[in-house]
Amino acid sequence: MPRVLIVEDHPRMAQAVAQALQAQGIACDTASTLRHAVAFLETAHHDALILDRGLPDGDGLTLLAQLRALRQSTPCLILTARDALGERVSGLETGADDYLTKPFEMAELVARTKALLRRHAVWAPEERSFADLKVSPTTSTLVVGPASITLSPSELQILLALMRHAGQVARRGALESAAWGAFSEITPKALDVTIHRLRGKLAALRSVVSIINTKGVGYALAVSDNA
Ligand code: CA
Repeated sequence: MPRVLIVEDHPRMAQAVAQALQAQGIACDTASTLRHAVAFLETAHHDALILDRGLPDGDGLTLLAQLRALRQSTPCLILTARDALGERVSGLETGADDYLTKPFEMAELVARTKALLRRHAVWAPEERSFADLKVSPTTSTLVVGPASITLSPSELQILLALMRHAGQVARRGALESAAWGAFSEITPKALDVTIHRLRGKLAALRSVVSIINTKGVGYALAVSDNA
């Protein structure tokens, strides 16, 4: 199992990121200061680093610069509220592998972290299946028989969450946090809109699986009888 160090001083944000990654089978440690982060990095191996810039004891980039100076190539995704082009460039020049500006969608952070781990060949997520559906998280592809379609990051996370519930109702809150994180500021409609798009894709692929709404509670996968 790959292991990621999350360096983020906002406790709810750190927890939301850790939960979203853990749900994908990625182990997480969290550090809220540069000092904590250094202590973690000295005692354990991490396959990737998710690094906030604005930390109580300094800029996350100084830690990254130290690591790179020591020729440590742990892949690093920088998180920051600073979205100016200059900030982005300085992050990448310091040796960051990717860059995400706050606020971000949790599904996008998960997708980019997985891409980092994949590029460094520490993680090959398994295909998941349910009835006639096969989902490949690596390529964000939904396959039914010979046909396939690409899923957006939020569609992928919601479908995987529904598949983990295997026909039981998945609560709205659980689906929202799978796709966008508990921390995001999405409207209640966002989930319904994404489910609507997923239903369209299932229908386009002529799958026997449909998505059932339990009003006010959540959604579940169901398999049609006359399949
Ligand atoms: Ca911060």
